[in-house]
Amino acid sequence: MYKTVITCAVTGAETTRQDNPNLPITPAEIADAAYDAYQAGAAILHLHVRDKKGEPTQDVAVFKETIELIRKKCNIVIEVTTGGAVGMSLEERLQPLQLEPEMASLDCGTANFGDDYIINTLPMIRETGQLMKEKGIKPTLECFDLSHVDTSINFIREGLISPPFHYGFVLNVPGCIRYDAETLGIFVRRIPKDSFWTAMGIGGKANLSAIYGSLAYKGFIRVGFEDNIYFNKGELAKSNAQLVERAARIANDAGCSVATPDDVRSMFNLT
Ligand code: ZN
Repeated sequence: MYKTVITCAVTGAETTRQDNPNLPITPAEIADAAYDAYQAGAAILHLHVRDKKGEPTQDVAVFKETIELIRKKCNIVIEVTTGGAVGMSLEERLQPLQLEPEMASLDCGTANFGDDYIINTLPMIRETGQLMKEKGIKPTLECFDLSHVDTSINFIREGLISPPFHYGFVLNVPGCIRYDAETLGIFVRRIPKDSFWTAMGIGGKANLSAIYGSLAYKGFIRVGFEDNIYFNKGELAKSNAQLVERAARIANDAGCSVATPDDVRSMFNLT
């Protein structure tokens, strides 16, 4: 039977306490948020961390501290970001891979990011993918655009990425392709057969719609403050777990069960 997987992206790089005062920032807060999300049904944590000022950082020491705190609480699968934040160098972005997490995001192309932009040239993608391959880290192939899907397929042909593939469709970033169910369908049809995928709708309306879209196409769900800070229009979410709880409830109402971290380990052949 089809099980969906819920990823929770509890902090991200761009969301601030001004946006939502419930944003977890310190390693201890992030670990608590991860645990609460796990209890609510999240199997994967998408992890960014912040420095003491609350700014995004790829400092390996902060990742290490945070991961150790999470590991004391639960066995949620940890996917670290290699996207980092706007303006970071690739060297900076790749630092948390030193910790050999089970999973990491792999951006598959350059994209607008609101008034900013994120650079992922082909050599940068190749270097990131190569490092993940050497360390046995499962990439989530993040695609902000359809051209990024085609790029990923070229890298699969080069042997850089091995099956089972897991895609992350990042939809509705200002300046990139918007979310709607029809567009999601095009992404789903374009990736290699039998790939797993997670849809991430950015912004409140797209995020909720993408949960329904993911279930309709038998994909996976992502929620959390990185993508969306609202529970309803004009109503801030109280916690990441509140968003996970709702996603799990919608999945269950649709007759779909929610995968555990160990289910994800067996689906993705994580060792
Ligand atoms: Zn991220």
